[in-house]
Amino acid sequence: MSLKGKSALVTGSTSGIGLGVATAYAAQGCNIMLNGLGDAAEIEKTRASLEAQYGVKVLYNGANMLNPDEIRAMVKAAEDAFGGIDILFNNAGIQFVSPVEDFPDDKWQQILAINCSAVFYATKAAVPGMKKRGNGRIINLSSAHSLVASPFKSAYVTAKHGVAGFTKTVALELATHKITVNAIAPGYVWTPLVEKQIPDTMKARNMTEEQVKRDVLLAAQPTKEFVTVEQVGALAVYLASDAASQITGTTISMDGGWTAA
Ligand code: NAD
Repeated sequence: MSLKGKSALVTGSTSGIGLGVATAYAAQGCNIMLNGLGDAAEIEKTRASLEAQYGVKVLYNGANMLNPDEIRAMVKAAEDAFGGIDILFNNAGIQFVSPVEDFPDDKWQQILAINCSAVFYATKAAVPGMKKRGNGRIINLSSAHSLVASPFKSAYVTAKHGVAGFTKTVALELATHKITVNAIAPGYVWTPLVEKQIPDTMKARNMTEEQVKRDVLLAAQPTKEFVTVEQVGALAVYLASDAASQITGTTISMDGGWTAA
């Protein structure tokens, strides 16, 4: 599975799943361009420690996924630094929960822009280089919500369904270029974002931590266990490897059985 000497651009990799995937790639010898928002000193600490721990080149680009020009410039910066991008991992995403009639227009626009349109802009910018070099992996972090819906998440579910359609379309366009395009669709993943919701939900619903996990967060997840970022990272490594060269245009669920129901 070694990805030694390859290079990956992972969007939204300053925390959570993206950071887990970047770490898994670095552990396989892959150079990384990190991206995402956050405290500059914290990001630099993460960058330097990945570089020191795995002996690969780790760069950071702060492109805002709301801005197509910044996305294009980031792809170019990664190509210039590494001599090409082997793996584009589109991961940056945000969430907002509201009944549709109250859903703020700006939140709708932002979710569509970051969770869906940014995948298009990054892919569009990276494909010419991948075609030229005759190799590439594009992996989109979608969600169980790219396959099924939940109430009050209209923008998120719309954006993630969009990513599923985009994944299939571009896979067909690139099928004879040795470039695969796939999506990973997790259920609930144990990230700081999820962890932070627990104390408030315990208070709001007068529940124990275990009740919140089982009956609220994991209500739709039959295994009643969270996916881990390491598990997503392992699948991301597999999809980037030569062994996965005939997997393209598909969404692979990692959701504890959620979408089987
Ligand atoms: P997270 O909040 O820990 O990470 C999101 C990343 O995206 C961060 O690095 C953040 O800085 C970055 N980001 C957000 N807005 C950005 C912007 N405008 N420009 C650049 N970067 C931006 O969340 P996460 O749970 O790790 O989510 C990562 C992806 O996984 C998202 O696409 C999310 O929809 C998806 N997902 C998460 C879960 C889950 O349970 N955590 C489940 C399914 C899918």
